[in-house]
Amino acid sequence: MRFSGWRVLKEGLTGNKGWAPHWRDPEPKREYDVVIIGGGGHGLATAYYLAAEHGITNVAVLEKGYLGGGNVGRNTTIVRANYYLPGNSEFYSHSLKLWESLEQELNYNAMMSQRGIINLFHNDGQRDAAVRRGNAIVNQGDDAELLDREAVRRLAPFLNFDNNRFPIMGGLMQRRAGTARHDAVAWGFARGADMRGVDLIQNCEVTGIDVENGKVTGVQTARGPIKAKKVALAAAGRSSQVAAMAGLTLPIESHVLQAFVSEGLKPLIDHVITFAEGHLYISQSDKGGLVFGSYLDFYASYAARGNLPMVEHTMETCVAMVPAVSKARLLRSWGGIMDMTPDGSPIIDHSPIEGLYLNCGWCYGGFKATPGSGNVYAHLIATDRPHGAAEKLKLDRFCSGVGLMDEEGTGAQHNLH
Ligand SMILES: Cc1cc2nc3c(=O)[nH]c(=O)nc-3n(C[C@H](O)[C@H](O)[C@H](O)COP(=O)(O)OP(=O)(O)OC[C@H]3O[C@@H](n4cnc5c(N)ncnc54)[C@H](O)[C@@H]3O)c2cc1C
Repeated sequence: MRFSGWRVLKEGLTGNKGWAPHWRDPEPKREYDVVIIGGGGHGLATAYYLAAEHGITNVAVLEKGYLGGGNVGRNTTIVRANYYLPGNSEFYSHSLKLWESLEQELNYNAMMSQRGIINLFHNDGQRDAAVRRGNAIVNQGDDAELLDREAVRRLAPFLNFDNNRFPIMGGLMQRRAGTARHDAVAWGFARGADMRGVDLIQNCEVTGIDVENGKVTGVQTARGPIKAKKVALAAAGRSSQVAAMAGLTLPIESHVLQAFVSEGLKPLIDHVITFAEGHLYISQSDKGGLVFGSYLDFYASYAARGNLPMVEHTMETCVAMVPAVSKARLLRSWGGIMDMTPDGSPIIDHSPIEGLYLNCGWCYGGFKATPGSGNVYAHLIATDRPHGAAEKLKLDRFCSGVGLMDEEGTGAQHNLH
């Protein structure tokens, strides 16, 4: 079933009777070439690219809940490629390029909106860091633009430019950055994978990973054992728990990150804007809600809900940056479980167990990675070699200390990234 304007018109005129379900609901087979644990954005994208680019279709995605019910459906939908350090910068650059043609590739409206991101700076030190970062982004081949205070004011006149503590000096802008509709991305990849023969199996929690003589042989699930030549983790916030089923300890702590959405408002914020000093990121959805978030809740937890101190902090910074928001009502808030690494950067690598692959450590930034992660992970699983854009996303950097990608410069404490 392909989507097109004609199709929408025809269905509209004929009672919408011709739409088919987006994917099948198959029973799990006894054996697959590849089993992917986790039906979030990364697991589904990996399945899609395994089938679409490598012709590997005897694949199952095992999801303990429903497809897209994890972080992929809970994030603030920001997509960007404005990283500073080698390793991250080429990977996210690769991912943003895939985003730009994703809707055509999937024949699915993911509401990709390249509305631009502006990272505000408030003092000389932050400005110098923004200049350095901007130069690194441009050297990587992506776009970055330094805006002075008046240029920011023209784009976002509603900001509080003269806050006593955080006067706005300017911003670093990436015009190709923006937002996408998070759950539509999961649905688009799911539909694309299903169309190519991948089995998407919901309500199928993986409860064990079978390993014999250092080699993976399959998984135990709530719907029975499934054999597999290769098993690929894509369980995001649950990565440590799933890896522990194979006896592995990952350098990951799980923390809650909350998000908030206001009641629908008339168009106010045209871009994604981040507030470096108080830490806030905000954009406006197509429905009019202001979508925003700030720090992690700072202690480790698997509860997908947040706590009031961080709610209070987020509201404070939001009102400090956009005073007009104080008049709006908050509609909803929710939380997701973040897989935090000690350097704040991800892992896409072999594990020490043959046939078991790792995709984790996405921290609060894995939505923008979704197509890139699926693409390079599928390459790793299919060829057993890392993709050129992901050569530095290695697990052993946390043993050797070589190649750490500490974007924030906050050291080895998971909750500070
Ligand atoms: C509030 C919030 C805001 C965010 N904002 C942004 C943002 O603006 N930009 C950005 O780039 N990123 C953002 N992120 C991060 C991003 O959402 C995640 O890094 C990314 O979605 C993680 O990858 P995923 O989509 O595969 O995860 P998930 O969707 O969480 O997928 C993992 C899946 O694995 C399943 N699973 C776990 N254990 C098992 C098991 N044993 N058996 C079977 N299945 C299992 C889970 O049920 C889940 O569906 C945000 C996250 C949150 C929570």
